[in-house]
Amino acid sequence: MIDRERLVRTFMEICSIDSEPRGERGMADRLTRILTSLGFTVREDDTGEKIGGSAGNLFARLEGSAPGEALMFSCHMDRVVPGVGVRPRIEGGYVVSDGSTVLGADDGAGLAAIVEAIAALADSATPHPAIELVLTVAEELALVGGSHFDTGLLTARAGFVIDAAGPVGEIVLRAPRQVKFSATFRGRSAHAGFAPEEGVSAIQMAAAAICRMQLLRIDAETTANIGSISAVGPTNIVPDRCELCGEVRSLDPAKVHAQVEECVRAMESAAAEAGGTVDITTTDCYPSYSLGEDSPPARLAAAAAGRIGVPVRFKSTGGGSDANIFNSRGVETVVLSCGYEKVHTTAERISIEQLGLLAEWVAAIMAGGGE
Ligand SMILES: [Zn+2]
Repeated sequence: MIDRERLVRTFMEICSIDSEPRGERGMADRLTRILTSLGFTVREDDTGEKIGGSAGNLFARLEGSAPGEALMFSCHMDRVVPGVGVRPRIEGGYVVSDGSTVLGADDGAGLAAIVEAIAALADSATPHPAIELVLTVAEELALVGGSHFDTGLLTARAGFVIDAAGPVGEIVLRAPRQVKFSATFRGRSAHAGFAPEEGVSAIQMAAAAICRMQLLRIDAETTANIGSISAVGPTNIVPDRCELCGEVRSLDPAKVHAQVEECVRAMESAAAEAGGTVDITTTDCYPSYSLGEDSPPARLAAAAAGRIGVPVRFKSTGGGSDANIFNSRGVETVVLSCGYEKVHTTAERISIEQLGLLAEWVAAIMAGGGE
């Protein structure tokens, strides 16, 4: 059913469009033209203005040719840096970049799969229910684009975010909540040689706080990490300021809360004992979700994988996606693996075989929704 040559052409064109976070204008315009030509009505929201980007999220709807509830499919239009000037090429059965940029298979593979699936269904006059697409901006900035999308526009109650690593056939049922924190330690500066006893070192405070924290793998479903510590100054001054940023994730939202509290206590006690202060800000990035293997999107995705002869594997992930947002707003959404590899690096690649299977899978889900 899938036209692989057309799929690869579409995919390579999508990869070659500049689309770093907040710079998705060209991608949004091109996808709007493609989707309109496939029969979708497309509208763009005002998220671009809200987040200082060049484009908003796209919401597109194609009426159904079969009964059944509408299905939602979602991908993000942005990609991580360096993602401008991508020159995709085919090498040994894979599509790769020239090594100076990422490829943009994350998430161009999902976008191309949707476009090809719709074109293939139309070519073969295969009936399908109404299809709703949410194509988000700035997903790579902790889901900021998707968090502004008005999910009230959707009639679909089951959704598929096409955006996970792993071979085609993997279905993500559970993803963590994430909270980020940033802290500014303040001490007192003094000459490090003449009068160090008059100083309070902000770097020492931050270091003491980190030593008191439980970090990295906390348990099977919980992680914590300090991502940056920054204080710049000459060696002859006791530093009076040091900044610290970290994050906590868990599939269990209560564990996130407990772990963040522990980090906050570690920072506050370290600052107080040294005679300094600390200001801490925490940001709830996205909520966790957990769906069953018998939830409607999981059943549809698994049945479709079976029809195209791909083994199904249900799994959890340690990363967030736009599915965290859809699930928190009442649209039960699983994440589908795309077959892309080494994402977020300049060695990113996807095999043409996996790309083809992904498009077949998406088409089979769309067609299966009307049965
Ligand atoms: Zn992605």
